[in-house]
Amino acid sequence: MILVSVLIEIKSNYLNRSFTYLYQLKKNIEVGVRVIVPFKKRMAIGYVIDVKRVNEDVESFEKSTGFELLSVVDVLDSFPILNKELFSVAKEMSDYYLCSMISVLQTMLPPSLRPNSSSLKSPKINYKKYLIINNDIGINRYVLTEKQAGILNFIKENGKVLKNSIKSNFIVKKLLKNELIKEINVEEKRLKNILCADIKKEKKLTYEQQNAISEILNSKNKISLLEGVTGSGKTEVYLHLSKKIIESGRSVIILVPEIFLTSEVVNYFKNNFSSEIAVFHSRLTAGEKYDEYRYIASGKIKLVIGARSAIFAPVLNLGLIILDEEHSDNYKNNKTPFYVTHKVALMRAKINNSLVVFGSATPSLETKIKAIKGIYNYVKMRKRINQLPFPKTYIVDIQKQKSLSIISDFLCKKIKEKVLDNKEQVILLMNRRGFSTSVVCNECHSFFKCPNCGILLVFHKKNNFLKCHSCNFFRKMPTICDYCNSKNIIKLGIGIEKVEQELRELFPNFLIARVDSDTVSDNKSRLMSKIIEDFHNRKIDILLGTQMIAKSYDFNNVTLAAIILADIGFSLPSFKRNENIFTLIVQMIGRSGRTANKQGEAIIQTFSPDHYIIKQACKQDYDAFFKDEMRIRKENQFPPYVHIISLILKSKNKNIVNDMSTQIFNDLVEKKFEGTTVLPPFIPYVPFENKKYLQKIIIKYKKNDDVKKYIKNNIMDFFSKKRNIYLSVDVDSFDF
Ligand code: ADP
Ligand code: ZN
Ligand code: ZN
Repeated sequence: MILVSVLIEIKSNYLNRSFTYLYQLKKNIEVGVRVIVPFKKRMAIGYVIDVKRVNEDVESFEKSTGFELLSVVDVLDSFPILNKELFSVAKEMSDYYLCSMISVLQTMLPPSLRPNSSSLKSPKINYKKYLIINNDIGINRYVLTEKQAGILNFIKENGKVLKNSIKSNFIVKKLLKNELIKEINVEEKRLKNILCADIKKEKKLTYEQQNAISEILNSKNKISLLEGVTGSGKTEVYLHLSKKIIESGRSVIILVPEIFLTSEVVNYFKNNFSSEIAVFHSRLTAGEKYDEYRYIASGKIKLVIGARSAIFAPVLNLGLIILDEEHSDNYKNNKTPFYVTHKVALMRAKINNSLVVFGSATPSLETKIKAIKGIYNYVKMRKRINQLPFPKTYIVDIQKQKSLSIISDFLCKKIKEKVLDNKEQVILLMNRRGFSTSVVCNECHSFFKCPNCGILLVFHKKNNFLKCHSCNFFRKMPTICDYCNSKNIIKLGIGIEKVEQELRELFPNFLIARVDSDTVSDNKSRLMSKIIEDFHNRKIDILLGTQMIAKSYDFNNVTLAAIILADIGFSLPSFKRNENIFTLIVQMIGRSGRTANKQGEAIIQTFSPDHYIIKQACKQDYDAFFKDEMRIRKENQFPPYVHIISLILKSKNKNIVNDMSTQIFNDLVEKKFEGTTVLPPFIPYVPFENKKYLQKIIIKYKKNDDVKKYIKNNIMDFFSKKRNIYLSVDVDSFDF
């Protein structure tokens, strides 16, 4: 008989436990295909990890093991859905991130190929019917009418013709019936790329760029940090590296931190690249993902560009992985498996013996220290292209403003000067969505909070909604208080919608566009490309946006970049908050003054003009920031000095979650793991998840990872047997 070992799709499967089934079907079965199997009185999807023939029969097997052997009901795939390389990466991820294989597989694969029941409903191949001449039949004695002959000729001349494009259905039927032509299915990829008008031709490399390329290609160390100031021409370096690798017959993955940036980079490459490029990110539809995935896996694609999830692109013979803006938080996945893209890149690179390039003007501390220590090859580009000067940067103390407007008189004057007098463009950053930050009852002082997560709801003016920025819960803006029925409800704080309103009042004749994830949500992602294109083509004077506009964009007529409120984020619950603010300011200043003979300027509005981070960022003094921040991380014991693991406990029952987290905490402390600190349980910043109560335990450890092994072998095992409480483990976590 044939026995197969199957990983089942269930969530609570912390450990990589597999289940054995009998295989009696005719279809071919092999490791790596999905099957439908009976599991706990229902049908579930499983992923086959082993197939073996045994001489034993069912009866004696059941007798000796003591359990009933159930049979596989169906096989879903005719070939393995993952190649060997990615399967080993999945295993390594499951080990390192302390999560189940099945959760990794579900993250790696596009919806239609996931080992997951919902994959059955996902789109399949998109076929279009075409007509071709039927050459299978020898001599055909059918006598054609004039019209039939016309259509037959048309098909002959074109080789293949889309069936729908021929109007006279009746004639087509007749030709088909008489076997003069036949119908074939041709797959049509759903994703169509749109091209930007801003064409950039390949440049003659500067000395620094040439140097960087040869240092990366010739280094013994395959992993490089490319630290190049904003505007130093890193993209051109990526382009040349990619060409070199592809010429040598290998393939390349380029990752960018923001989905919308993919089109910017794709355009850059399209205009300079002869071979086909695939795009991969989470905003593609399930159908598009399915098409792109299979297309990449077929080996036809040598270059994949995408956001975080593109690290799983099934390219063959991977020779180079580039992470542009490697410092970005978006490279961390914020649900199970909580992977950091850098780590996965290194896993893939090791298997394929490929090069890795981490690029940034402001590298993350974790990457930078490795470069300093020589663990990574350290490559620097210190100058802007054409020796352009950095923008002249002004700090504006917003508290000293006389008017109530959030747009200071100085900023106002500068905007007018740029747009009206010089016909130049302005880019403004307000890193907070919505109209106001919170809504409160002026009588009983209760805030409106999200019933699912417990965080403050944000007022969005356009739909008159209160919205949760964590889980997207929304409700109509209330007219009376939930608690005391008072009508005295007020809005506090400022969000990007309010800034937009003020801008439109101040500059009624300017062309203003706003981009944030509310204006360019999933189904509107074309809108973002359109706005970016319009901005490139100078059809917009002022571009206002959240952090998504601060990264990487290369607009050459922008001479003023301003941050409306630089303080946002100082109170966020992450040890990376200083780094994130510093980076954002440097990146934002870097958007200005990117062409010769136009001096760029930048304005940073803030409530804390003397804050050292803001001062350092305005001076672009990354080295000073790095030194100070490393000291702070050392004093407070944060990465890169320690590793952090968060245990997140969830339950509908508050007492259970409280008791259990105390119990786990005590247990971990008692074990006295070397070089390990366990912080007492606390309620995290987002206190609920789906109405479940949360508690977090933070564990810091140095080299010795005994605590990690203990979590895997004892704590997770313990939770896998529990019912009304759940544990998720965030290895290398960023926030609290
Ligand atoms: P970075 O990513 O380092 O901030 P970019 O790659 O966006 O910088 O390059 C900045 C600008 O310089 C772009 O407009 C780019 O087209 C231009 N550029 C890059 N390399 C060269 C070169 N060798 N000669 C002239 N212009 C260049
Ligand atoms: Zn009230
Ligand atoms: Zn919520």
